[in-house]
Amino acid sequence: MSDASYEELRAKLNHKKQELTERLSRISANLRRGYEADSKERAKQLEDNEVVDALGNEARAEIAKISAALRRMDSGEYGNCVECGLPIEEGRLDAYPYADECIECAEFDERRRARE
Ligand SMILES: [Zn+2]
Repeated sequence: MSDASYEELRAKLNHKKQELTERLSRISANLRRGYEADSKERAKQLEDNEVVDALGNEARAEIAKISAALRRMDSGEYGNCVECGLPIEEGRLDAYPYADECIECAEFDERRRARE
């Protein structure tokens, strides 16, 4: 990968990370408001909070993946599969820039999870 597209990708990942961090703080603010609701509303709001919380977890998981990808960029390991060490397919990185596994390893993991 060229230095220019590397920097571009790093900027894109940082931007995405910031977006997710902002979304996460909005989600947290909504959650806190929910807890201040009066008791009549509380059951419904706890239900909403579960949905909001799931969204929060999703955002947190994505932030963690992006942070890991940025760390791999710094250490020069970016673009190699963490499982088998082979380069990750470029098309996969285009579609999923913080992928840490090549397609074979990712599919292997998926199959393993499906069996559990
Ligand atoms: Zn692999």
